[in-house]
Amino acid sequence: MVSKLKNINPYFKPILESLSGLADRLSVRVYLVGGVVRDLMLGEKIFDLDIVIEADAIEFAHKFAEIHKKQFKKHHTFGTATVFFDNHHIDFVTARSETYSFSGALPKVKPASLKEDLLRRDFTINAMAISLNKSDYGKLIDFYSGENDLKKGLIRVLHGDSFMDDPTRILRAIRFEQRFSFKLERHTLKLAKEAISKNAFNLVNPHRLREELVLMLEEPLPRRYIKRLYELRILPLIDRNIRLNKKDFHILVKIEPAIEFYKARFKRHRQLEDWLIYLMGILYRLKSQDASKFLDTFGFRKGEKIRILSLYDNMDKIKQLNRKVLSHVIYKTLNPLSFENIIFFYAYCQKKAIKRHIEIFLDKLINVRLRLKGEDLRKLGFKPTTLYGKIFEKLLYTKIDKGFKTLEEEIREAHIIFENCQSKH
Ligand code: ATP
Repeated sequence: MVSKLKNINPYFKPILESLSGLADRLSVRVYLVGGVVRDLMLGEKIFDLDIVIEADAIEFAHKFAEIHKKQFKKHHTFGTATVFFDNHHIDFVTARSETYSFSGALPKVKPASLKEDLLRRDFTINAMAISLNKSDYGKLIDFYSGENDLKKGLIRVLHGDSFMDDPTRILRAIRFEQRFSFKLERHTLKLAKEAISKNAFNLVNPHRLREELVLMLEEPLPRRYIKRLYELRILPLIDRNIRLNKKDFHILVKIEPAIEFYKARFKRHRQLEDWLIYLMGILYRLKSQDASKFLDTFGFRKGEKIRILSLYDNMDKIKQLNRKVLSHVIYKTLNPLSFENIIFFYAYCQKKAIKRHIEIFLDKLINVRLRLKGEDLRKLGFKPTTLYGKIFEKLLYTKIDKGFKTLEEEIREAHIIFENCQSKH
């Protein structure tokens, strides 16, 4: 038998051997399962491990963590536990079966055999296991022909009710289909379309749909995933106001180079949350109040909501940058925006002037700081006033426009601004 663990990242080898030793000492069956087996067989990189135990997983994980003196966290509600190794984590779960009392419900779970545990999974390619017990260490356990589907590049559900039991699997199917350039197996596609036509998404907690949607948008080239959602007419079912058209795809295409442009040129700036920019590409034509409702229903975080909604508030202001403007106007328009908003606008606006102004902002203006501090103003004899904030703002804008290099230039300008202010008040 050729061990399926032969090519695993060497970091995991001693960990798996140690799991194997403990399994035999405790006389329990232990398996590597799910996506990690799929990825191993595809030769993909492995980051985390999913372990199924045909016994109490929390107890097993606890002993394992003690042996390695690693952090251990149990999740009683789910009967699962995680052990943390450096940047990797190992999840332990007791083999279990699941039954759904109605479509989209959270399943009722009870301890079961590995075979039943694998049957509760989404697709055949995610329903394989590798034994970690010494007697058959590295042996593939494949009750549902996952290996065959993996070779053929097929996403296949394990039973006819799968999508109705858990409609988020439709999004997962699309995610794996696009990620691996696989196909939905014919019957599986038919079942997905049936579930879609029965409006199955209405039955699911929107937060779960959000999680799947975000996972999709976090994959490389999310445009392909969005296109598939569009082809299968899924987006309007998630929210009836989302109706993409050809122009929207044009923008999604432009987002890719815009993100690349940012990453290549602005390595020092904060990392972008790329998925949020793609979500902007899906939502930007909605009315602001409809977008707000969508973001609330699906439980997006406050910071995400603020960034998306600021699109609508700034669309017109950005269009003002399509003419010759003073540098401080560029700064004033773009500085309050998140990088995600700016990059979305960079992709969205086709006018050269706007693009150039965004580049100037990111290249230069964003880094402009005043040398002068409040302390300096006081030392120079300026009386503290509620106008300090305004004075500094004006000074910064003038510095941006005139390109001051020295503190002296700033001081000279501060005098002028201060006097103007005082004469006005
Ligand atoms: P990824 O590479 O995106 O992490 P994954 O397959 O590892 O993919 P997870 O969400 O981590 O995905 O799930 C681990 C495993 O749990 C899956 O491989 C699958 O066996 C099972 N699983 C996850 N979600 C579902 C679901 N909604 N229905 C059934 N099984 C699921």
